[in-house]
Amino acid sequence: MSFPIALTIAGSDPSGGAGLQADLKTFQRFGVYGMSVVTVLTVQNTLGVREVVPLEPGLVVRQLEAVLQDPGAQAIKTGALGDAAIVQSIAPLLAQANLPLVVDPVLVAKSGDRLLTEQALEALKAELFPLATLLTPNLPEARALLGQPIRDLAEAREAARLLGRLGPKAVLLKGGHLAGEESTDVLWDGHELHLFTAQKIPSSHTHGTGCTLSAAITALLAKGVGLLEAVARAKRFVSRAIATAPGIGQGIGPLNHWA
Ligand code: PLP
Repeated sequence: MSFPIALTIAGSDPSGGAGLQADLKTFQRFGVYGMSVVTVLTVQNTLGVREVVPLEPGLVVRQLEAVLQDPGAQAIKTGALGDAAIVQSIAPLLAQANLPLVVDPVLVAKSGDRLLTEQALEALKAELFPLATLLTPNLPEARALLGQPIRDLAEAREAARLLGRLGPKAVLLKGGHLAGEESTDVLWDGHELHLFTAQKIPSSHTHGTGCTLSAAITALLAKGVGLLEAVARAKRFVSRAIATAPGIGQGIGPLNHWA
């Protein structure tokens, strides 16, 4: 097989801890050549997000057309998509590309700033979910997508199945926001549930955790690794990346992407 290539379609974080910068660093870490189509420019550092500016949809589409035409990719992930117009304009190209697709339904930054407008939620569900190989919501995102509370592991298991009915082939519902000393992620693979439990790592350096996890899974899918193994390996990597975070910045700092 030729050298694996992964593509992220995501927002820019100039401080380098989240968004497409985190994705590219993660692709590199997994020995995969990384490409990025920019959807949204943010102005932010570890202390917070100051501006979120979606690009003109035509510009996003032209970036995507160019890199899919040459050199092409083996797997794609989407992160922050900005608004409904961007979601709607990339969906036909993603359908045509017909590649493993990880959809990280990024709605808000940890600071609470919106990275996808509320109106775009329906477009995301209708246009991208049916194309997704894997959907990777955290609990607040899953609550927003389903419109129902998820308070414990039993409700998380149910939520993962329900999200699967919205079209993706598989759902990884990340449990890090549930109370307790352990964090359990629930993977619905379309047939059954698999649980991934890890000890929670107390840390203020968690900026870009979601981006990094979905990018690691995408890199492994680009290399031809199966979904279950890709999720397990990506989770172990993110735990190490949090535990060995370099302590950069005065606020919520980045992970150790070379862990
Ligand atoms: N994408 C961009 C451009 C961001 O700025 C952020 C958070 O600030 C995210 C995605 C999501 O980050 P996380 O992985 O911490 O949820």
